[in-house]
Amino acid sequence: MTDTVLVINSGSSSIKYQLINPDNGDAIAKGLVERIGESEGHIQHKYGEKVVDVNEPIADHEVGMREVLRLFDEVGPSLAEANIVAVGHRIVQGGKYFDGPALITDEVRDLIDELCALAPLHNPAHLKGIDVARELMPDTPHVAVFDTAFFQRLPEDTATYALKQEVAEKYSVRRYGAHGTSHQYVSEKVASLLGDNALRQIVLHLGNGASVSAVKAGRPIDTSMGLTPLEGLVMGTRTGDIDPAVVFHLQRQTGWSTDEVDDLFNKQSGLKGLTGENDMRAVRHMADSEDPEVARRARLALDIYVTRIIKYIGSYTAELGGLDVITFTAGIGENDADLRREVCERLLPFGVRIDNEINNQRFSAPTTISTDDSSITVMVVPTNEELAIARQALTLI
Ligand code: AMP
Repeated sequence: MTDTVLVINSGSSSIKYQLINPDNGDAIAKGLVERIGESEGHIQHKYGEKVVDVNEPIADHEVGMREVLRLFDEVGPSLAEANIVAVGHRIVQGGKYFDGPALITDEVRDLIDELCALAPLHNPAHLKGIDVARELMPDTPHVAVFDTAFFQRLPEDTATYALKQEVAEKYSVRRYGAHGTSHQYVSEKVASLLGDNALRQIVLHLGNGASVSAVKAGRPIDTSMGLTPLEGLVMGTRTGDIDPAVVFHLQRQTGWSTDEVDDLFNKQSGLKGLTGENDMRAVRHMADSEDPEVARRARLALDIYVTRIIKYIGSYTAELGGLDVITFTAGIGENDADLRREVCERLLPFGVRIDNEINNQRFSAPTTISTDDSSITVMVVPTNEELAIARQALTLI
């Protein structure tokens, strides 16, 4: 068997994993442990044609990870024969410390721990995954790959908030961005496919979380997520951009705690707050509802979603000093033809033209959907964060 990398994305109550062949990008096996710590847990492990589901309580991340290793041995592929040369861990927040992947030593682990204050929803969960995996696979190098690393190269003027600087510096308040692994992977893919390293690109990563980046000659010059993944586009459950005074107003009016407002903005807003549904497919379904009020709310949500994207495309085009390529990626970007058409229709006055027949296809490979006479190339590029993590991890081995 060729060398492989095990990629782990550990969340607060879940562990996603993939065993990847970094040469051809194949996911040899993959799975998901979910509802860790709840009364009924679930694991799904896929290897080739085999799909195994286990329903049982999973007390903690260690139990979950041990179960995953057991499934590898029972269902395959056997880890002893899988030639795992590295374990790549996805980490949301690398703060100012990491501008690329890092071999996980005790010191690196402590820095990720220190950054929990900046990513309280994510880094503690990643640490659980790291600790368990290091314990269970002590002889394999573990590598941390950070969502923020690509954006450590943001220029100062887009990375800095206009906040009193003593406060910003003392509490590490700046724009770190997120989804960097995806933005880097997709923008590099576009540059190599179009054979041009000097491109001015906008990458729209539209999934349950959503972000947009402006990339010039391979360097990110702006991105929509900030201190945390809350800033920017409308997302499945997050507000995206909102006047910070809404926080003060709500707290004064309601007496809600900081955690309650945090939960409102991160988990109960966005598409979910506007329609009751966080899943774009459900929102599209609602927009066709025979109930006029349901349909109106869903259409308004879609309009808000698209308008926010257009605002970013406009401002990033100006920041980039022109635009060569717009690329759609992630669950909505790759699969929602209507969304791509709605965005591109708003760009008609700027000469953007897409081929609707091509746009309506399903994409498993990077594809240009703009016509030859379009002023800007428009592409769909399936993202592959796991492969990007595997390849980054290998650079340190
Ligand atoms: P991700 O976070 O990248 O997995 O993306 C999840 C989002 O992609 C959810 O909002 C899904 O509704 C959306 N999505 C997946 N497939 C489709 C589809 N065919 N049409 C519209 N949205 C989709």
